[in-house]
Parts: sequence; C-alpha cells; structure tokens
Amino acid sequence: MNDILSNFPRVSLCHQPTALEQMPRLSKVLGGPRLWIKRDDCTGLATGGNKTRKLEFLMAAALEANADIVVTQGAVQSNHVRQTAAAACKLGLECYALLERRVPGKGEDYEQTGNVFFDQMFNTQIEFRPPGLNMNDEAQQAAKKLQLQGRKPYFIPGGGSNETGALGYVSSAQELLYQFENNKLNPKLIVLSTGSAGTHAGMVAGFHALDCNIPIMGISVRQPKEIQIDNVYKLAVKTAALLTEKKLSRGKVLVDDGYVGEGYGIPTDGTLAAINAVARNEGILLDPVYSGKGMAGLIGQIKNGQISSDGEVVFLHTGGAVSLFAYEDQFLAGKAHAPTL
Ligand SMILES: *Cc1c(COP(=O)(O)O)cnc(C)c1O
Repeated sequence: MNDILSNFPRVSLCHQPTALEQMPRLSKVLGGPRLWIKRDDCTGLATGGNKTRKLEFLMAAALEANADIVVTQGAVQSNHVRQTAAAACKLGLECYALLERRVPGKGEDYEQTGNVFFDQMFNTQIEFRPPGLNMNDEAQQAAKKLQLQGRKPYFIPGGGSNETGALGYVSSAQELLYQFENNKLNPKLIVLSTGSAGTHAGMVAGFHALDCNIPIMGISVRQPKEIQIDNVYKLAVKTAALLTEKKLSRGKVLVDDGYVGEGYGIPTDGTLAAINAVARNEGILLDPVYSGKGMAGLIGQIKNGQISSDGEVVFLHTGGAVSLFAYEDQFLAGKAHAPTL
C-alpha cells in the first residue's frame, strides 16, 4: 500500500503500528458481534494515547517554525497536554499549557494527580483558567506574550485538532486498512470517542482518501450531535483536501450523543460499567472521560439493536487511563458503587 503521508513533515514519537486485537470474552458477554480493539492507547509516549499520532505532525511543524516552546491548552486532566509536554521534552523544547477547570465539583487532588502530576514531571509551565473561556484564544494570547519576551512559541490548538494534527489519524486509518487486509477482516463498523474532533476527522478523511467505505461512529463526549457533526465534518474536509481532490460528503460523519450524560468529564453509570466490563473481561484499562464513554456507546448500541450481533466491529482505544487516578473514588467498591453490565 502506498503511504499517502510520505510528503508531510513528521517526527517519530509513536510506537507503530499499534496492535489490533480481538476481545473474545467481552464479545461473548454482550452476545454481540465479534469485537476487535485498535490499541492506540499503546502509542508509547508517556503512557500513550491518540494525541501522540497528531503530535508527530504538529511537532514537526513546530520544529520547522524554529520554535523553542509549544503553547497549548486542555481541560485539567488533559491527556493531550500530557503527551504534548512529553513530546516537547523528547525534542528539547519547552511546553506552556493552560488548563481549563472544565469539570465542576472537583477537589484539590484532581488538579495534582493523574495527568497533572505527569505534566509536572515534564516541567510544563501551567496556568489554570476558569471554565467557559475561548481556550484557544487564551492560549494564543499566552503565545503572543511569550513572543514579546523574546521566545519563539508555536501554538498547538486544544486536542491537537487542526488539519495538521488530524493527519495523525490518517496514519491510524491507513494502518487499520493494512491490518484488515492481513487479518482477512471486513468489519462493518468502527467506533471511537469524539471530542475536539481531530481523531474522528482524520479517520474519516483517511478512509475517504483511501476509498474505504466502512462507517465510523463517533460517540460524543461533550457536544450535542449537530454541533459535533459540524466540527468533525469541517475539519475532515480540510484534512481530506491535503490528500485528495475527491469531495467528502457530510453523510460520512456519524455521531451519537446519547452517552454524554451530565457533561464533559462526568462519567455516567454506563461509563463506569463499560470501564469495569472491559477491565474484568479483557484486562484493558479505559478512561472515564473519553474511551469509557465511547465503549458505553458501543455497548449501548449493541444492547438496543442498533448494532446487530453478526459480523465484526472495531473499537478504537484512544487511551487516557492516567486520568483514572483522578476518579478513584467513583470506582472504589463500598465508597461508591461499582456498576457492572
Ligand atoms: C483527546 C482524547 C479523545 C478525543 O479525541 P479528539 O481528537 O479530541 O476528538 C479520545 N480519547 C482520549 C483518551 C483522549 O485523550
């Protein structure tokens, strides 16, 4: 297969290809289709996750721009900030990050453990922000300030989600098609969690450019369906334009917003049950903000018949288990409940 990404500047950060594995025990428990899992939680950089793929392209752009510091933003327990900070260390750059207090009702520990602890290991300069601001604007202002101080900042948007970052998910799409061929797999659906949209958009753009018609279902972790479709479609169009002249139709972007619950970073009982089910049947850790909601969506769609019990379905594991440490109280039996399927 030709590498459609060979012409883009890229640094090597990621263990790849990531494994594509079966989940036989979970499939059996659900009485559903044969489930596979793409292990993009195992991309290698500082415990891994989906942002590492995006950062291969974004950090290459930062180096081309001669930057000495990257500036980005995320929620307090951002996996994106943790991976960006690690990538910066690996490449000899500094990292400046704004963390939005997006999740309500969290104590002091939440701002010190999990991803924030790792951010500090990587010597990230952190500033907290109240919820509701335009965080990309805030980060760009911070970058401007650094520039006035004589620094050479490079701005990376939240989640690494622009068309440069989304190329990282074109790489995952390309890998998947190669693995499908090798395993003689013909899955009827890909399921992933969708937030700042770069992962979903890159995957859609990649399949589009490579003429693959397998549908991709994004389980929203935050936005209502129509807004999320809009965000993903706009970014997928920009990303696809880097790869092909073929027009991408909006109908390729599928979103289910039925698993968000009370909001970003707040796991539902379904999220907790999905995390426990995957842990106890497959020995795999999901996370309470993204992949747990994505898996709750996959399980929910099997249970309500939207996904029939025949054929094969692939779940894209985007990582995030580091933030489990910021949610321990919601899992500990006795203290809270530990829901199962
Ligand atoms: C950021 C993130 C996502 C969502 O990816 P987007 O590209 O922001 O949509 C999913 N899972 C994990 C673990 C993440 O950190």
